Amino acid sequence: MSDSQDRIIIFDTTLRDGEQSPGATLNKEEKLTIARQLARLGVDVIEAGFPFASPGDFEAVQTIAQQVGTPDGPTICGLARATRGDIKAAGEALEPAANKRIHTFIATSDIHLQYKLRKTREEVLAIAPEMVAYAKTFTDDVEFSPEDAGRSDPEFMYRVLEAVIDAGATTVNIPDTVGYTTPTEFGALIRGIKENVRNIDKAIISVHGHNDLGLAVANFLEAVKNGARQLECTINGIGERAGNAALEELVMALHVRRQYFNPFLGRPAESEEPLTQINTREIYKTSRLVSNLTGMFVQPNKAIVGANAFAHESGIHQDGVLKNKLTYEIMDAQSIGVNENQIVLGKHSGRNAFKSRLKELGFDLSENELNKAFLNFKKFADRKKEITDWDLESIVNDQIQQPPELYKLELAQVSCGDRLRPTATVTLRAPNGEEKTAVALGTGPVDAVYKAIHQIIDLPNELIEYTVQSVTAGIDALGEVTVRLRHEGRVFSGHAANTDVIVASAHAYVNALNRLYGAMQSPSFSAQAEPTVTSRV
Ligand SMILES: [Zn+2]
Repeated sequence: MSDSQDRIIIFDTTLRDGEQSPGATLNKEEKLTIARQLARLGVDVIEAGFPFASPGDFEAVQTIAQQVGTPDGPTICGLARATRGDIKAAGEALEPAANKRIHTFIATSDIHLQYKLRKTREEVLAIAPEMVAYAKTFTDDVEFSPEDAGRSDPEFMYRVLEAVIDAGATTVNIPDTVGYTTPTEFGALIRGIKENVRNIDKAIISVHGHNDLGLAVANFLEAVKNGARQLECTINGIGERAGNAALEELVMALHVRRQYFNPFLGRPAESEEPLTQINTREIYKTSRLVSNLTGMFVQPNKAIVGANAFAHESGIHQDGVLKNKLTYEIMDAQSIGVNENQIVLGKHSGRNAFKSRLKELGFDLSENELNKAFLNFKKFADRKKEITDWDLESIVNDQIQQPPELYKLELAQVSCGDRLRPTATVTLRAPNGEEKTAVALGTGPVDAVYKAIHQIIDLPNELIEYTVQSVTAGIDALGEVTVRLRHEGRVFSGHAANTDVIVASAHAYVNALNRLYGAMQSPSFSAQAEPTVTSRV
């Protein structure tokens, strides 16, 4: 253990806890795209999902284990409740990964024991080490979490932790499941574990926490000062309710203030050695990718990755920054990769230039996908003179996210203006090849288009979110539209990019309806509507 005790392990749970954000559901291709980027970012562990939760989760974890879990890549982790069925599913899904971890958990707070598990303390004290030992039959790398640790009786939790470490747990993760603890309390909780768990030197102490009171990052930093060496976090802080601790905030706090944190890791204060293995220049790109694929946009004033985080509007600040950056900037935008958005291609760029730039951006497309992406690129280049890296990412991500094209948009046309009732004409090709056209009036052009589409694809649903974001500055920028709709409690998303926001809006809505339509065709649709696993860390 000693080699990893003097640095901080970054455990990313964007694909497991982050994906539990209401409406952030990702499909397998989207998860794989994010996992690849997390590997480039340099996270130590990717928690890829909860394999027992659904066949889709199992398959996503397995694919990530196969394609991202290479010998020099990150450890791939799967979540499992402390039951044989869950652990076996995780072990099987993770099988292809070179480095794999099973993360199992059981509640230790009396309130969870009594009302949720209906088990006694003695039963939990027996189950936890038994299940850790079972997980060890699949991999040596086993993590254990006492769920609701913050509200557990410390003496009982110490006994559970001792038992699981004796059974072979190599990481013990302390979650603040309900986001209730304050930094001083959380630091004391970690110190208590360090001082009272007899065999704690045989395991890494990890922390997990939610941001209900906006304290998750502060809690984690206090935990680091008291002996925690693994941080469980998500990109942009997405996650259940108010979200998880944000990876970018933790990593940059540890980076910018490394001289403050060094002594707590037993290093000389002046050491310049990074505290994490994160390649900070990939932070901004990762943030944008997760924001685009989940449709959960980042607030402009968000620390580190918000659009305004490095914008100096006030005249005094601008003057200072121009004279010397360090007057008002504690870190350089370059250090998180903000300025790496260069104009790279134009209308006359060839297929080879396009292909090699995509490769540099980390996209590995098949010949077929590449041809399709190149055609889309050419269409955009006709309307937008300068194509940047962000445009390229948007074009490719847009393509990755396409659901099966059951209904195909053939035509979307609107007339609107200050003296016109917004009117839309839409033509769709149905899965049986038949073309259908509808005309509708609306309160605005998007509303009119959506009403016309809804006349043709008549599936009951409620539109719960519609967002437009521009990819780059300028009047000819690409507009990205994300749509979420709800049907019987399940959320389906659609995403599209185009220089014409009305066309992007139409595509995004048809994509979401195609996902819903596709799901309704699957025989397990009604069975999937009820989530079977509700226990979470
Ligand atoms: Zn959580």
